[in-house]
Amino acid sequence: MGVSPAIATMIEGLRRAGLKLTPQRLAIVHSFAGDPTHPTAQEIFDRLRPVLPTMSFATVYSTLDSLTLAGLCSARALLPGAARFDPNTEPHDHAVCEVCGAMRDIDLGARPAGARAEGGEGGALGGFEVRSVETIYRGVCERCRALREATRR
Ligand SMILES: [Zn+2]
Ligand SMILES: [Zn+2]
Repeated sequence: MGVSPAIATMIEGLRRAGLKLTPQRLAIVHSFAGDPTHPTAQEIFDRLRPVLPTMSFATVYSTLDSLTLAGLCSARALLPGAARFDPNTEPHDHAVCEVCGAMRDIDLGARPAGARAEGGEGGALGGFEVRSVETIYRGVCERCRALREATRR
């Protein structure tokens, strides 16, 4: 069985950050790398508990924390509640469902022109140096919309 590029990159990153590749850390990476659902630490913990019953929640959390510090993922708290972890390190936007909390990646190409960065001195940003711009689309996801339609009838 081959290892996906996303997993290989994350393992290489852990190694470069000087973190020991324990079986638990490797299991977390395998479950998390390439995952488009932006899981919380709790979700990853629940997923792995059946196979790693001795692993603690603290291990999951500290591994995700280390991956974040090493720049291999990011932590996002776009809605109240636990932070969600994002293994996609390419610049991208997010759509967040205000009903179920689901978060999905939105390609930068979908961003309206008005939402792009105005860099440089002065202007509305008052000389702030822009490193990145992120657009968050808040609303209702497809699944929740379908549920809403179904209950309306
Ligand atoms: Zn939803
Ligand atoms: Zn994302």
